[in-house]
Amino acid sequence: MQEELLKYQQIDAKKRKIDAEIASSDERKKAADMQNYLKECQAKLQKFETASETILRNYKRASAFMQDLNKRAKELNAQAQKATAEQIASIKKIVADYADKMGKIEKEVTALAVQAKQISREVETVMKNAVTAKKNYSTYKNAYDAVRASREPEIKALLAQMQEQKSKVDPKLMHMYEIKADAKTFPIFVPVKEGRCSGCHVELSAAMKKKLAEQKMVECENCGRYIYE
Ligand SMILES: [Zn+2]
Repeated sequence: MQEELLKYQQIDAKKRKIDAEIASSDERKKAADMQNYLKECQAKLQKFETASETILRNYKRASAFMQDLNKRAKELNAQAQKATAEQIASIKKIVADYADKMGKIEKEVTALAVQAKQISREVETVMKNAVTAKKNYSTYKNAYDAVRASREPEIKALLAQMQEQKSKVDPKLMHMYEIKADAKTFPIFVPVKEGRCSGCHVELSAAMKKKLAEQKMVECENCGRYIYE
């Protein structure tokens, strides 16, 4: 009953083997690694951009504060021209406080400039690495495409064989097969071996054994494969 289907499964197995070989090829791995590296570069650049924005924002805030303090200091100096000795003493105190604040802000601004310089150096490095990585990716991708293209005729031939074999398979069985064909469980139809599913090697329950004897085929309770006698 399932003989034609098993033939179909054999051809499918050959095709899957080629797919797996392509997927595990060095060329694909190298291309994928390079792609991941480029993604990392992108993430780093994004992070640097956010950091730069924060620095710029802090710098602007510090500058505005500095200007404000300068303006107020000037105003106080003007007031001092007409002030009493007592007022001058208090104004001097305020001006000294302003000078202290300005000193602190200046230090902050210097630190921000150092950070900005550091970031711009790192951005330069990442950009340089990304350019190299892009070139490498393109080389590896071409190599991977070549590997795929070289296997294309085999795959096409197997697909044609599958198509032909399909017409000989009981449509009901074919449907059962196809709904599981996407799953990782391959082969999908497996024989029973010493009371076990030969897909996952789990022993069939007494009820399942009985069902198998009656219906000649059961769905494995463990892995979902179809087990035939
Ligand atoms: Zn199983």
